[in-house]
Parts: sequence; C-alpha cells; structure tokens
Amino acid sequence: MQKVTELFGSMVFNDTVMREKLPKNTYTALKQTIKEGKSLDISLANVVAHAMKDWAIEKGATHFTHWFQPMTGITAEKHDSFISPTDDGRVIMEFSGKELVKGEPDASSFPNGGLRATFEARGYTAWDPTSYAFIKDNTLCIPTAFCSYSGEALDKKTPLLRSMEVINEQALRILKLFNSDATSVKTTVGPEQEYFLIDRDLYNQRKDLVFCGRTLFGAPAPKGQELEDHYFGVIKPRVSAFMKELDEELWKLGILAKTKHNEVAPSQHELAPIFSTTNIAADHNQLTMEVMKKVAKKHGLACLLHEKPFDGINGSGKHNNWSITTNTGVNLLEPGKSPYENAQFLLFLSAVIKAVDEYQDLLRVSVASAGNDHRLGANEAPPAIISMFLGDELTEILEAIESGTAYDGKKAGLMEIGVHVLPDFPKDTTDRNRTSPFAFTGNKFEFRMLGSALSISGPNIVLNTIVAEELEQFADVLEKADDFHAALNELVKKTIKEHKRIIFNGDGYSKAWEAEAEKRGLLNLKTTVDALPTFIAPKNVALFTKHKIFTEAEMHSRYEILMENYCKILHIEALTMLEMAKQELLPAASKYINVLSNTANAKKALCATVNCTFESELVCKLSDLCADMYQKTTALEEAVKKAETYSDATEMGVFYKDTVLSAMADLRAVADQIEPLIAREHLPYPTYGDMLFSV
Ligand code: ADP
Ligand code: MG
Repeated sequence: MQKVTELFGSMVFNDTVMREKLPKNTYTALKQTIKEGKSLDISLANVVAHAMKDWAIEKGATHFTHWFQPMTGITAEKHDSFISPTDDGRVIMEFSGKELVKGEPDASSFPNGGLRATFEARGYTAWDPTSYAFIKDNTLCIPTAFCSYSGEALDKKTPLLRSMEVINEQALRILKLFNSDATSVKTTVGPEQEYFLIDRDLYNQRKDLVFCGRTLFGAPAPKGQELEDHYFGVIKPRVSAFMKELDEELWKLGILAKTKHNEVAPSQHELAPIFSTTNIAADHNQLTMEVMKKVAKKHGLACLLHEKPFDGINGSGKHNNWSITTNTGVNLLEPGKSPYENAQFLLFLSAVIKAVDEYQDLLRVSVASAGNDHRLGANEAPPAIISMFLGDELTEILEAIESGTAYDGKKAGLMEIGVHVLPDFPKDTTDRNRTSPFAFTGNKFEFRMLGSALSISGPNIVLNTIVAEELEQFADVLEKADDFHAALNELVKKTIKEHKRIIFNGDGYSKAWEAEAEKRGLLNLKTTVDALPTFIAPKNVALFTKHKIFTEAEMHSRYEILMENYCKILHIEALTMLEMAKQELLPAASKYINVLSNTANAKKALCATVNCTFESELVCKLSDLCADMYQKTTALEEAVKKAETYSDATEMGVFYKDTVLSAMADLRAVADQIEPLIAREHLPYPTYGDMLFSV
C-alpha cells in the first residue's frame, strides 16, 4: 500500500492541487469566489475546467459528471466523456467552463412532488465549489446542487447550503456583540455510520434483502447479541480486509475515515470519520455509503445499510455529531474557560435548547422513514420523543442560573453570566447516556435518531435553520439592549425557564419517561405517518419560508415525496413478502409435508404398527400453519389491493401504516413458526443463523 499521507486526497481536486495546477490569479479569484459564495465568472470557469480536465485525465479519467443528491436519498450521476471529434476523424479531450458550472440532466424521472409537470421537466445542476471535485470510477465528479429552471430546489444540497448561510448570518450577529473578530461561521458534522456485512451468496438468495434491504421473514437464530461478545470484538479477517480497502478508497477521496469497530449485533460494524463542514460531511457520507457497498461486493460481501435488516437484534443508526465553529477556530459549543467564553457558550446553548424544544416536530420529521420506524422507540435506539441530555453538572448550572441561586453549596455567590467562571464539568461525564436522542457531549451535540441509510442533509437543514431562528431572536433583543450583560442574563434565564422541559438526563428507553414526557407536553410522534404532517404545519412553513430555505411549494412537494416514498417502500415490501410466501415458503412446506407423508406411508407398508408420531404430528402441525399462512397471504393481498386504490398520499400513508403493515406482521408471525419446522434441505432461503454468522 502507498503511504497514507500520499494516498489521502489523491483523487480529489483539492486546495493543494488547485494551487499547483491553476495560474496564481485564477487560484486567488477562485478562492475568493468560494469564500463569498458567489457564482463563478465564465472566463474563470474555463481556466479551472481546463486544469481540472488535465488533472483528471492524468489520473485516468475519461468522463465527467455532475454529481447531485435528488430527493431519492441517494446520489445521481450521468456520465459524459471528454471526447470531442476533430475534422480528421480523431478525438480530443475537452471540458469547458460552462460544462463545469452548469449541467442539464433530464430531470423528469426524479421525485419532485408535483413541483414540475414532466413537460417542463428541465432542471439544472450547479457546481458547489465549496465541495471539491473528485474522481470515482474514472469519472471526474463535480458536486452540484440540483434546481428547477424556476429556481425550486429539487435536491438535498440546495436547502442545506441555504441553511448554512442563514446560521452563518445570525451567529455572526451574536458574535459581534461579543466583540469577536470572526467573519464566518460554519456548522460541522461528524456522522458515525453503522452497517451490517453478510456473505453475498446468502444475500443473493434472499429476495427480501435484494428488493427491500431488510429481511421480511426469518425465525431468530439460536444465538443473537445476548452474549455481548461482538461489540468492540476482534475484527475477523474477512471483515478486516474489507475495512482496510474501504479506508483506502475513502482516503483517496479525501474522506477522513478514522474509527472502525464491531457493533453490538452480530455482523454489525461502525465507521466514524473526523468531522468536517456540514455540506462536505453530507457529500462524504453519501460517498461513504456508496463505497461501502461497492467494496463489500468486491470482497464477496453485501453491505446492508437498512435501519433494521434483522428482527430481534439491533438495527443501524447514524449519529450526527453537530457543532458550530468560527473561521477563527472557536467551537461555539465549547464551554471555554473564561467568564467571557462561558457567557457566549451559554447563549449558544440556550439557542439550541429553545430550538430543540420549539421544533421537536421538525427534528422528528427529519429522521422519519419507513425503515427508521422499526428502530425508534424499540429499546435499541432513542425513543420517538425528542429530548435533550445535558448531563447533571450542566443541568445543575442551568438550574442555578434560572433560580438565581448558587450552583454549588460550597461556593459562595450567585452565578452571574459573564462575570463568574463556570465550574468545570468533566467532559466525559457528558457522554454516558446512550438513550438520549439529542445529547450534549462536551463540545458538540450528538443527534442520535438518524437511521443508517438516511442522507444527513435533512436533519442538518433543520438543525441549522432552527438554531439560526433562535439566534436571530436573541440578536434582535441583545442588539437593542442598553445593558448587554443584564439583557444576556435575563435572556438565558428566561430561555431556561421556558424550555427546560426538553431537558431530560434519565433513561430514554423507560416507560416512565414516556409518561413523564407526556406530562411535560412533549411530542411523541411514533411513526413516519404521524410525524410527516407536522412538516407542513403553519409554524414550520413560516420558519422555512422566512429564512428562504424552502418555499411553501417546495415544502408541500417534499411532504408529498416523503409520504409517497413511505407508501412505495411498504408496497414493495408487501409484494416481496407475498412472492416469498407463495413461491418459496409455502411450496417448501408443502414439499416437506409430502416427504413426511410418503415416509409415513412407506413405513406403514413395511410394518402396520410402526410408530409414525413424528411424521403425522408434524404433517398436521405444518398443515394447520400453512392453512393459516395461506389465509394471511390472502389478507395481505387484499390489503395491498385496497391500498392501491387511494389517490391521496396522506390517506394512503395512514392505510399502509395501520392495515398493510399489520397484515405483514401477521403473515410473518406464522411464517416464522413454519420455518424452524422444515428440514434444512427443504428450506427455501438462508436462515438468520446462516446470515448473521456467515462472515
Ligand atoms: P464517541 O461518540 O464514539 O465518543 P467522539 O466523541 O470522539 O466519539 O466523536 C464522535 C464523532 O464526533 C466523530 O466523528 C468526531 O469527529 C465528531 N466530532 C468531534 N468534534 C466535533 C465537532 N466540533 N463538530 C462536529 N463533530 C465533531
Ligand atoms: Mg458517538
């Protein structure tokens, strides 16, 4: 292997490469454009494109693509080669500035939630120069935003970039009041990614995995995760080989892959990168998921990114570690050591507390998906109720501030923000509660409700926007105040008083918390279908339109897309179940019944008094179960047929959640009783035991 330092970023047109390959004035102008977030001048773009192409060709690239993130949740690309014909029948390699900055994919087949009719389906992609171009599969990939010609966002990057601008603007207003010399503020994210690896041959034998990414049938294996012997366990050679290659591929793409380990469930693993600026973290996380799947395939493995591939053992999530940092290198969620730093921290902390409380619904919606519904609230992931963990020390400090009493009985004097130094609270005690959906971990917040397959854009659009909104409200008050310190004290006190209900340091998995949360008036939106409608609630439309993150039309379109997507996923799952039931499990059971019956008959032919208890009892039992399963199959079929008749997305969603999903559960329950009764040689698909202990 090449040295890591040489490998790292070798496929990225990053700052070093730009400085090396671009004329000095072009480089300076490009950096300036990036800094100001302006669009690229065409003559400048031509020079950049030319250098980019030469660099890419040197690295073996033959094509380029505008790489974007439509509402499918995955990335999209359409490859064009660099070739351009010459008069003498040859080709030269060309790439223009126009091709770099703007693309026009035929957008008619991407989800748009009714934003555009197909006859006016043209969308365009525009380079996000803050995210470096890179080479993947001999193709130069240009990270782009995807919009319609009338300017509506059709992707996940555009609103994310908008939300970063908004929080930048509002945070700078606050920082100015603290006499900071920062000129730009960015949010940062480190997404920890969980996944499963199973043998690819076994994967290919399971239609549910192939079509749906999760198992729809499967009796539990004799062994699950109860021995807790997988978490941080020794990494097996085949997995280790996969992880090594994955690291290398990610490093080449400039992705800061840092930590890898085995997770709780058998065959489950995690990869965590070092955090980066949010839009880059989002791009990198999409790439990480893609590369994981590809590298797994090379190793004869299948990488499962679904939130709940297997029933009865943990599913997979993605922890979104989030903070706010200035261009002067200050982490605004770091408590700091001086009264001055403390005051600033407490204000930003208050903004986050208020934001999370007022926009619980949006945070919940941002992680809602059919797959994640199987995890949230299932004692392996945070509950569907949003609350914040701050740790006992910080909570006590806030309580002392609110009540105007001393924090620590031993220390005389009241805590006055901006005057007294906050008592030290050990960082590692802030990260012990794994049941909280939104935990303060010393210098950042860890949003733990994300499903493993989710694009991190949505949750971060929400986080950036809601915190920006609160910062704006704070800045409005503080800028007008005659006595800044008094106003600051008052504001923090008031915020704690009004929003402390969102703070909960106890066990988020407990039933008692559910009851307590209800008493506190916190939302408990249990499923995607319950959560989604809050996205278009008037207060949330007001928020997003005010900050120009989404237009109202964009919000309605996104709502439709998400609800339709939920229905489509359940539709596919139901059809897959029906196919597996009718073409695989029932015929297998029937065949085994036949074998048993023949055996019994043959035995009886030899000896009339022979004991056939095993055969006859099993035949009876299996026959009863099969009859039951057949009936459940018919019920599911009918539910699906009914679901198909709905035209309203919301009504359809409710029907899928209430009726189709439970018909699926009923079918599975019988099927999983049949599976363990069938002789191994007659089993139609690999079992949980086969899959989970296959690598
Ligand atoms: P763990 O949660 O396993 O204890 P760490 O706390 O070290 O691990 O970090 C988890 C993730 O948080 C990593 O991806 C790390 O890069 C990220 N992280 C650390 N600091 C920040 C920050 N200021 N902003 C965003 N993410 C951060
Ligand atoms: Mg973590």
